[in-house]
Amino acid sequence: MKKVTVKDQIGRVAGRIAAFQWYVDHPRLEDGRCRFCGTTAACSCISNTKRNLIYWENRLAVLRAESTLTAKEVEKILKSSKLMVKKREQDEMLERLENA
Ligand SMILES: [Zn+2]
Repeated sequence: MKKVTVKDQIGRVAGRIAAFQWYVDHPRLEDGRCRFCGTTAACSCISNTKRNLIYWENRLAVLRAESTLTAKEVEKILKSSKLMVKKREQDEMLERLENA
């Protein structure tokens, strides 16, 4: 079995950060309701997600310190994670439009 490296862990954390960041930047409402909790009035999803984001950003900083990667290399991983999330969200949105 392949050993999970710090770099793998950084990749996973970067993926989470990218997904949370996307949600904070693009909170999705359907018919005025949050797609996660379904409530209309200001729900707590965004603030919870922001809190998660801070947690995982701190985690990423710790992992980076444990790794031999430079800040620039970690930035690159994060950037590609963000592109991946963007593509996934856009594909999903297209699919929803097609099925509408
Ligand atoms: Zn919500």
